Amino acid sequence: AKAKSRGSISLFEPEMDQQIRDRRVLHQDLSVAIRNGELSLYYQPQATSGATVATSEVIGFEALARWQHPLRGFVSPADFIPLAEESGLIVEMGQWILREACREAASWPVPLQIAVNLSPAQFMHGDVVSLVHSILLETGLAPDRLELEITEGVLIEDFDRGLALLRRLKALGVRISMDDFGSGYSSLSYLQAFPFDKIKIDRAFVMNLGRNPQSAAIVRAVIDLGHGLEMSIVAEGVETQEQLSFLSEEGCDAVQGYFIGKPFPIGKYATLVGRSDGD
Ligand code: C2E
Ligand code: CA
Ligand code: CA
Ligand code: CA
Repeated sequence: AKAKSRGSISLFEPEMDQQIRDRRVLHQDLSVAIRNGELSLYYQPQATSGATVATSEVIGFEALARWQHPLRGFVSPADFIPLAEESGLIVEMGQWILREACREAASWPVPLQIAVNLSPAQFMHGDVVSLVHSILLETGLAPDRLELEITEGVLIEDFDRGLALLRRLKALGVRISMDDFGSGYSSLSYLQAFPFDKIKIDRAFVMNLGRNPQSAAIVRAVIDLGHGLEMSIVAEGVETQEQLSFLSEEGCDAVQGYFIGKPFPIGKYATLVGRSDGD
């Protein structure tokens, strides 16, 4: 069925708009991607914000999904995650991602953190608490090593349900990060209402450090604010020494970005040692 659907589209549906056709094919392909082993996880290091990369210590990794399509090559998660959400495939895919990431982390001889992204549909529409609970049991990963990254979009939909879910997840012992902070409507009331352990400052602000003084002021303020709320702060998208220096001096707890290390397929733990900057 797979080969047929992939091969027959352009012959039988010539009148269809190319984009719609593309999406439909991509969707069919996505539904078999897991079974075909086309999905994999890359891992990007998070490190303490030292003055230099050499003095920044790796504290964990964020798992990032990759889809190697047999014909199209690499499809970005920014493209296929939304597609998986719309079609409901995200539930199965999210389970696979969480299990794979926890299994991987459980095999490391050093108890580093593992951060996994939860999409809104996965968070709000599946039974995310039992899923996390059963995967922790199944893989033997210590709950405090798992960090779940969610965006505010998740919580806007249903405040009460969001809060109840976060509390139940925290009761399992896992940590919760607010991803992409500052990129949406993130209001301060969210930080007050929800029990986040960590705030990830969106790449957009980090990118503009050194280019515009407003970004520096915002990043500084978010660090102070987060610390006042006893949350730890991670800056995303750190690409230069200049950015690292600023974040280090301002007391940002951790950094993530190409300057520290690109996402890479981790394989065995051996690759963790002395290799965190590319593939
Ligand atoms: P995100 O959670 O904000 O992940 C960070 C993205 O920034 C990743 O893109 C990462 O590769 C990229 N990045 C990291 N450092 C740098 C840097 O220094 N410079 C630049 N320009 N980019 C950097 P990626 O892997 O393409 O993922 C894009 C988005 O797709 C993620 O954004 C996340 O929202 C979503 N995503 C990825 N994997 C998963 C997953 O397993 N589940 C879910 N639900 N969403 C995922
Ligand atoms: Ca993330
Ligand atoms: Ca992010
Ligand atoms: Ca993002």
